[in-house]
Amino acid sequence: QKSSPAQTEFYQAVEEVLDSLAMVLDEDSRFCKHSIIERIVEPERQIMFRVAWVDDNGTVQVNKGYRVEFNSALGPYKGGLRFHPSVNASIVKFLGFEQVLKNALTGLPLGGAKGGANFDPKGRSDGEIMRFCQAFINELYRHIGARTDVPAGDIGVGTRELGYMFGQYKKLTNQFDGVFTGKNTLWGGSLGRKEATGYGCVYFAKHMLEGNDETIEGKECLVSGSGNVAIHTIEKLLDLGAKPVTCTDSDGTVYHKKGIDIKCLKQIKEVEHGRLSDYAKRNPDAEYISREKYPDDGHAVWRLNGQLAFPCATQNELNAADARSLLDNGCIAVCEGANMPCTSDAADLFLKAKIAYAPGKAANAGGVATSQLEMAQNAGMQRWTFQQVDEKLQDIMLDIYQRTRDTAAELDRPTNFILGANVAGFRRVADAMIQQGVV
Ligand code: NDP
Repeated sequence: QKSSPAQTEFYQAVEEVLDSLAMVLDEDSRFCKHSIIERIVEPERQIMFRVAWVDDNGTVQVNKGYRVEFNSALGPYKGGLRFHPSVNASIVKFLGFEQVLKNALTGLPLGGAKGGANFDPKGRSDGEIMRFCQAFINELYRHIGARTDVPAGDIGVGTRELGYMFGQYKKLTNQFDGVFTGKNTLWGGSLGRKEATGYGCVYFAKHMLEGNDETIEGKECLVSGSGNVAIHTIEKLLDLGAKPVTCTDSDGTVYHKKGIDIKCLKQIKEVEHGRLSDYAKRNPDAEYISREKYPDDGHAVWRLNGQLAFPCATQNELNAADARSLLDNGCIAVCEGANMPCTSDAADLFLKAKIAYAPGKAANAGGVATSQLEMAQNAGMQRWTFQQVDEKLQDIMLDIYQRTRDTAAELDRPTNFILGANVAGFRRVADAMIQQGVV
């Protein structure tokens, strides 16, 4: 830690993984001999750069851009870009580190990376978003490529932003290739990619519940977030007969006892790019709890009644007090749509209570897995139907679930899916690193 102070989120992610790996490092002396732990926590390459652009008033704005190319043992670097004011080196590193193990867990040929900028897209005009994306790519283009490093979206980066980035990349390189995933389906995007993280998360939850002789049907679900992952989690929950009753944004929580109106939610968030306070105005029977009214020790959404919880907004959005409240209120499963949404204390409480608990690197891997399907379609100049993609996604999520469950069982901790996911992912990456020599 001394060599990189103040990387709180990165250390949190690494500590969780090292706790899991302690159980398996002794099983294979090659891991120590090849210094796999020392190498795996160190990114292969980190790029930090200035992003200068001109706002609508003609003023020059400056942001910090990042790309952490963490590990390429299993395939080209792969991972999203996040535009949010909170983005810093620690957050990008934690996301990149998690991505390495997540991508390995999918069983697909993908390395791990993450990037972004401390740019806040909220309240920016379309022209400002475009100029920012172009300025960001003016530096990043030289580091990425369809066989080198393939970014995608994340918080604050959706199809529109990827379109502007792809356009600038094409202008600078004169190449029309699959350098991004999550593209618009009109020019190379895969059907089903937009839905994949949320749908995949619910497919994972379904398997996990069935493994405990439970079903998803009829369960009241607490979902946080109202972006890409949350919307498609809610949509698939409704599809499978569950009842999602909440969603959140950074200003507040919507509680809709009769079930979230997905059409209204999509209209506000995807079409109007609006706020959830509008949802409550259009649905007078829904309650809106503004951020100022949140409990001092946590978040309103986790204090409501629900049997299943799907944190789908951001890191550390569910703490120990929230976890206690969920458990007291009869929650039987937590499935992470976001990356590291539960604090370590909260995760410990779920493990101790032995409820079904799926860490993000297993439960939200459907997004990156479908990105790989997009890369395959681009490379083969093909276009698969939504149904083909969704069927493959379902197979991949079942595979991830089984790999996670079986590894946890093999290590004699059948309910510890954190352990199962970390160890299963690590073994693949470590083997590939050893086979590729000291590089
Ligand atoms: P979006 O930008 O589409 O949505 C993010 C949502 O989370 C918004 O509702 C946003 O509210 C809320 N949010 C973000 N930051 C905060 C914060 N600091 N406090 C409270 N609310 C916050 O992002 P995605 O849905 O794509 O991503 C959500 C999570 O899922 C992230 O952890 C991401 O890393 C993870 N993920 C995403 C994948 C994907 O395919 N998109 C794949 C795998 C993981 P507001 O609008 O108010 O900011």
